[in-house]
Amino acid sequence: MTSLLGAQERAVLDAVPRQLYIGGRWRDGEQGTMAVEDPATGEDLCEVANASPADAMAALDAAVAAQPTWAQHAPRERGEILRRAFEAIMDRSDELALLMTLEMGKPLAEARAEVLYGAEFLRWFAEEAVRIDGRFAAAPTGRGRLLTMKQPVGPCLLITPWNFPLAMGTRKVGPAVAAGCTMVVKPAQQTPLSMLAFVRIMEEAGLPGGVLNVVMSSQAGATMGPLIADSRLRKLSFTGSTEVGRRLMEQGSANLLRLSMELGGNAPFLVFEDADLEDAVGGALLAKMRNMGEACTAANRFYVQASVADEFATLLAERMGAMRVGRGSDAATEVGPMIDAAQQAKVAALVDDAVGRGARALVGGRVPEGAGYFYGPTVLSNVPADAELLREEIFGPVAPVLSFADEDAAIAAANSTNYGLVAYVYTRDLERAFRVTERLETGMVGLNQGIVSNAAAPFGGVKHSGFGREGGREGIDEYLETKYVAMRL
Ligand code: NAD
Repeated sequence: MTSLLGAQERAVLDAVPRQLYIGGRWRDGEQGTMAVEDPATGEDLCEVANASPADAMAALDAAVAAQPTWAQHAPRERGEILRRAFEAIMDRSDELALLMTLEMGKPLAEARAEVLYGAEFLRWFAEEAVRIDGRFAAAPTGRGRLLTMKQPVGPCLLITPWNFPLAMGTRKVGPAVAAGCTMVVKPAQQTPLSMLAFVRIMEEAGLPGGVLNVVMSSQAGATMGPLIADSRLRKLSFTGSTEVGRRLMEQGSANLLRLSMELGGNAPFLVFEDADLEDAVGGALLAKMRNMGEACTAANRFYVQASVADEFATLLAERMGAMRVGRGSDAATEVGPMIDAAQQAKVAALVDDAVGRGARALVGGRVPEGAGYFYGPTVLSNVPADAELLREEIFGPVAPVLSFADEDAAIAAANSTNYGLVAYVYTRDLERAFRVTERLETGMVGLNQGIVSNAAAPFGGVKHSGFGREGGREGIDEYLETKYVAMRL
């Protein structure tokens, strides 16, 4: 196949390390190499090292060896390393964005936005590193003093998904570095390149060898299993599917491993009749189409009050139907490909299932012709309650629109899922906004807003969307233990 890559794309790829990073050294993997694919063409971009279970254990050995010294590092120094990495990412944001688009498919503008969002976690936790503190209090009897101190949890395993190849990494590495933890990072097989580029930046920013180790693997379960079973590992922070998260919880239970779980979503998007409809459609586009719908926060079910449901669906179909689908690296592209053939097939099957049960495609509903794993933006109306895509995370550019009669019905529909990551609410009635927000069973709510992600805010879910929070003041607590000291006085 003739390569579709231009000189700039080649140069960006060639600048990325392709090896494992263990104990401050770049080295080959015992399982040879594995290919990274361009989802826009199906073409192989490059090969990266493929780790064996022994490589993963070597990474844990390095993290364990580095832990005591790293924990003693001055918080200010840890923060300054993060700050330098933040600056370096900002300086190289164009190259990092192009790299991300190549391996993941998202449009360049969105890749740029992720690079900035990802970098924000480094800036935020650079500032948090020096704010780790404890408490001092008199015991209720008055005869003693209670002192608490925060200490790093210890060596961590950080597992990240393919949909936000940089930000899902910095959101974990930032607080772990700030807290004084060492770590082994395992990026997703489909998108290791952004993480490798980031690790090189951390190395250049002065992070001591052994603090951050990276292993890639084509067989995640077999490679990481022994590491997870090792009692020297003290924490697992996982972002990915609920199914894999559940399996990892079981594996971690033998050692009572501390866990943070950022899992799947099935976000409801509620539009009340008092909402500004244009604004709601704009928010819907963001909540649905960012990352081609391949976001855990993606609006998965649109519930619109009956009096405005048809108008909303028509407006949304107009806007989604006008979006330009194409290779992420083309400047005009607004919708890139799905990550791989399996994801494309899953989206197509969910739409076919809904249409087979009586839903109507107002726009889209088809796999476009040609190479790459594309799926056309799709709006479905008349979606029956038993359609599979109301229960499953679609992870694609498909918007099912349903209607509801009143507030109680809207809340019941929104909460009728095991997931609980985020919900979106559009209303101009302040009282309703609070009433509904309080009754929604989710970790986050977007109020008249289609994007909630912010490095300064606690991101995370409830129910089967997991537990633990990333970002905000809460984010660093996931990497700290509280030690209590009882003092006689
Ligand atoms: P996935 O669960 O298949 O994989 C996630 C990561 O886990 C990858 O690095 C993968 O290699 C690794 N992995 C898979 N099986 C493993 C095993 N047995 N042992 C160790 N590691 C294993 O998920 P994905 O397809 O990469 O990502 C999509 C999912 O991630 C979606 O469900 C999405 O909602 C979720 N997600 C959640 C958030 C959040 O913050 N809540 C953010 C982004 C993505």
